[in-house]
Amino acid sequence: MNKRTFLQLLTLMFLGSHTKVIASQQESKTRKKSERIVIVGAGLAGLAAAKALQQAGHQVLVLEARERTGGRIWTSNQWLGMPLDLGATWIHGVDGNPITDLADEISARRLITSDQKSVIYHADGRVFSQVEEKQLRKIRKQVFDLVRKAQDAETDVSIQQAIAQLVQEAAQDTHRLNLLNFILSSDLEHEYAASVRDLSSYWYDSDQAFAGEDVFFTQGFKVITEYLAQGIEIHLAQVVKEIHWQQAQIQVHTLDQVWRADRVIVTLPLGVLQHQDVHFVPELPREKRQAIAQLGMGVLNKCYLRFAHAFWPQAVDWLEYVSNSPGEWNDWISLQRTAQLPVLLGFNAADQGRAMEAWSDKQIVASAMQRLRTIFGASIPEPIDYQITRWASDPFARGAYSYNALGSRPKMRDSLAKPLQNQLFFAGEATSKTYFGTTHGAYLSGLQAAQKILMT
Ligand SMILES: Cc1cc2nc3c(=O)[nH]c(=O)nc-3n(C[C@H](O)[C@H](O)[C@H](O)COP(=O)(O)OP(=O)(O)OC[C@H]3O[C@@H](n4cnc5c(N)ncnc54)[C@H](O)[C@@H]3O)c2cc1C
Repeated sequence: MNKRTFLQLLTLMFLGSHTKVIASQQESKTRKKSERIVIVGAGLAGLAAAKALQQAGHQVLVLEARERTGGRIWTSNQWLGMPLDLGATWIHGVDGNPITDLADEISARRLITSDQKSVIYHADGRVFSQVEEKQLRKIRKQVFDLVRKAQDAETDVSIQQAIAQLVQEAAQDTHRLNLLNFILSSDLEHEYAASVRDLSSYWYDSDQAFAGEDVFFTQGFKVITEYLAQGIEIHLAQVVKEIHWQQAQIQVHTLDQVWRADRVIVTLPLGVLQHQDVHFVPELPREKRQAIAQLGMGVLNKCYLRFAHAFWPQAVDWLEYVSNSPGEWNDWISLQRTAQLPVLLGFNAADQGRAMEAWSDKQIVASAMQRLRTIFGASIPEPIDYQITRWASDPFARGAYSYNALGSRPKMRDSLAKPLQNQLFFAGEATSKTYFGTTHGAYLSGLQAAQKILMT
């Protein structure tokens, strides 16, 4: 076990998997003085912090810009009896994952999806042969060998620069180029929500993962945020515009009110901080502004298509499409095997995901259907309905999740998380050096911010 892993395990053991652990550790301290704590944002990080601090005896209130809680956890009930997640879907790696503990506490029903249950299709719709799958694996190995080599180089380069030689070699061979583009899109751009042009070769994968299966909630991920929100004072439709700190009481200005607090936890998404939608008075220190500017905020969008019946293979979860337009409709998941729902979910990430946000719903559905018809034939039915996300255009997210951009360093996430004068605290997935871009990263960051308040 290296030093980094050891320290992370120590932190997790210290936090325990439950907010109650923190509360009891701090009981004697908080009995002395109950503080007024305002939390900006009712996503997973904000709610985790709120619950821990309230249990420890503080007066907590949460200000949330939207008309709902959950933030980037957003379960849609638009289709009766089919709760669908428009934001986070999976607990990625259930073993030791704190979200598993929360799900167990409320006995939330979960279903497993498996990468092993997948089928790969050519650009023309043919299913990959075993020989072709072997070729794909070979190119994948070449990509990651080059990226690993770049990680040992003197200076950091983007992943695109790291694999430039492979792209050049594949340029004359359309099939090989399609395979290469598919790997870049599916393995990297969908995973990290960022273009290979922007991902740092050194640091793109500096995060860690829990082992075990990927599971999703039959009633949607919101069962977790609703559970955490119970009993917390949450004010919805409160768009924070300014935070005045470095004074006896912090003032949080929303569009129509000023809220006063002894301490504030800011859980704004990185994209919102980058866009400077909230003004800090005085401005944040240089180190924090630099972290905000240099870390990346990525894009991953979803398009759910609901059909009268499943016309695709029923035993698979993942349908992989080696498109001849780079990054377009590469990854699909079927809800038929796991949830018995005749629903396909197509993803588009990074440049492609961002560009498609400008398309109309009709154009997006037509583009998806064109790909599905290439694979399954012209006679497949039109969808009964669809649900489409546009996370980059969402003013309270401005992206899907953060990534380590070329020019950034993992320690910038510590700078982002660093409290200011024991008054202003920061949490949210982007502040998690170990688990950025995930629900468990957001949750643990909220607990860590609460812990810091309770320790001082
Ligand atoms: C499409 C998609 C798929 C994903 N898939 C997964 C997955 O399968 N598994 C996984 O682990 N993670 C996944 N993630 C990532 C995960 O959803 C996030 O990391 C996590 O939910 C972030 O929580 P947070 O509390 O840090 O931020 P948020 O949930 O964004 O919370 C921040 C809150 O601040 C509010 N806010 C913003 N501006 C203001 C303002 N001015 N005033 C007041 N409030 C404001 C927002 O409305 C929001 O509620 C996915 C994300 C997306 C978008």
